[in-house]
Amino acid sequence: MNAVTPPKPEHVTAAGTALSGAGCHGGRETMREAARAAGKSEALERLQKDYPQGPHDQPQSMCPAFGSLRVGLRMRRTATILSGSACCVYGLTFTSHFYGARRTVGYVPFNSETLVTGKLFEDIREAVHQTAKPEDYDAVVVINLCVPTASGVPLDLLPKEINGVRIIGIDVPGFGVPTHAEAKDVLAGAMLRYARAEAEAGPVARPRNLVEGARTVALIGELFPGDPPGVAALLAPMGLALAPQTPAREWRDLYAALDCAVAAAVHPFYTAAVREFRAAGRPVVGSAPVGVEGTAAWLEAVADAAGIEAAALDAAKARALPAIKAALAANPIRARITVSGYEGSELLVARLLVEAGAEVPYVGTACPRTEWSDPDREWLEARGVHVQYRASLEQDVAAMLDARPDLAVGTTPLVQKAKERGIPALYFTNMVSARPLFGPAGAGALAAIVAAQTRGSERFRRMVGFFEGVGTPEGAGYGFTDRPVDPPGFRERQRKLRAARAKAEEAVGS
Ligand code: SF4
Repeated sequence: MNAVTPPKPEHVTAAGTALSGAGCHGGRETMREAARAAGKSEALERLQKDYPQGPHDQPQSMCPAFGSLRVGLRMRRTATILSGSACCVYGLTFTSHFYGARRTVGYVPFNSETLVTGKLFEDIREAVHQTAKPEDYDAVVVINLCVPTASGVPLDLLPKEINGVRIIGIDVPGFGVPTHAEAKDVLAGAMLRYARAEAEAGPVARPRNLVEGARTVALIGELFPGDPPGVAALLAPMGLALAPQTPAREWRDLYAALDCAVAAAVHPFYTAAVREFRAAGRPVVGSAPVGVEGTAAWLEAVADAAGIEAAALDAAKARALPAIKAALAANPIRARITVSGYEGSELLVARLLVEAGAEVPYVGTACPRTEWSDPDREWLEARGVHVQYRASLEQDVAAMLDARPDLAVGTTPLVQKAKERGIPALYFTNMVSARPLFGPAGAGALAAIVAAQTRGSERFRRMVGFFEGVGTPEGAGYGFTDRPVDPPGFRERQRKLRAARAKAEEAVGS
């Protein structure tokens, strides 16, 4: 093990002790201030530039770090270690395994003392050394959650590589990265950056399934598994193949992705990843092959960026567009639908719905506006659709109540609110993650589920009438008719306990 260079105590804010009990609800500005004071200004500025906030601070969604964790866990021969409060780590590991990670999540615990003295950094370093075994791993990822970021735990001081295993430390605080979608980009971008530097420095490992001399398109975004083969079929007449996707599934795939002819930001929030493709000299196109018009425009953009001849582009269009047109005609959608979500593909879904005949008055996305969704935004706005970036739950709900749609596609709390009012609703993630979206397959798949859901509207209305008044806040629970009463003195006891705890923490910190 190398000689230890402990981080200077000033890296770890004096507020570290107090922060150790802070969390999502602990005051974002306090956390930011602490992080700046602890030497994380540059990291925070980069996050703020890549993932601009507003009109409000942060859409309501799960802990953003889940995005980075998931990207790490899905990569072969990659270990992922969390550094954060136990409650955050519990929630993140629970969610990972709920989504079938089947991989170990590493965790370096801390307490007030190890946080303040810098021992936490030493513990992380030790964990990294223990984990970085070249026979097991290509890379070890360490993710700083809110409190270690706010306390300035300096992951950039970790070794860059141990016995050939790459070490990647990233800060993914909830007070700096607005959504879990963008957190995927934080890790994807960091890995591409590392791989680009390796490729620029000399020969690198040969990517699996590499076809010598093939010109490729690198898709950026986590897609339904059936979509990439569909996109490959769309590109084939232009002599283009698919490069491995970003986020990558294996380290050596990063080299093949960077070696593409064109990068396609089909999910439009991968700002850091796009920066790396551009730094590697690759042109980047936005939007995606959805519906007839979307597919035509996307093929044109790819052909233009890759310098494909007009005849090949025409051949690609001639093969794809009639099939998409036929699929849309065979599966028309006659319904008013509002769309909201935090996946980043909301505008694409709305485009496809509109092309299939739906009336879509509103689409809200938790993701920011970027140049890669501009073609979709312009297309939708030209058809009277209101597009809301960084949409809050309140905006999504207000739009749904205002539009009274036949189907509300949205996040879990929105779906719950819709169902309470007898409006058929569908969880966005379930809809897009379980079926294709692109090309002819996407055109047919979406209509079927919309039709099935809107057919249930009469049943919803009957259910609302049947359960009228049952389970609403004051009368929740079987057998209660009156407003529930707190046990005498309960609230006061809790208040005093909280005050005593805060005082004790202050005393330790002084
Ligand atoms: S790491 Fe996630 S769960 Fe923990 S405080 Fe930050 S945003 Fe909340």
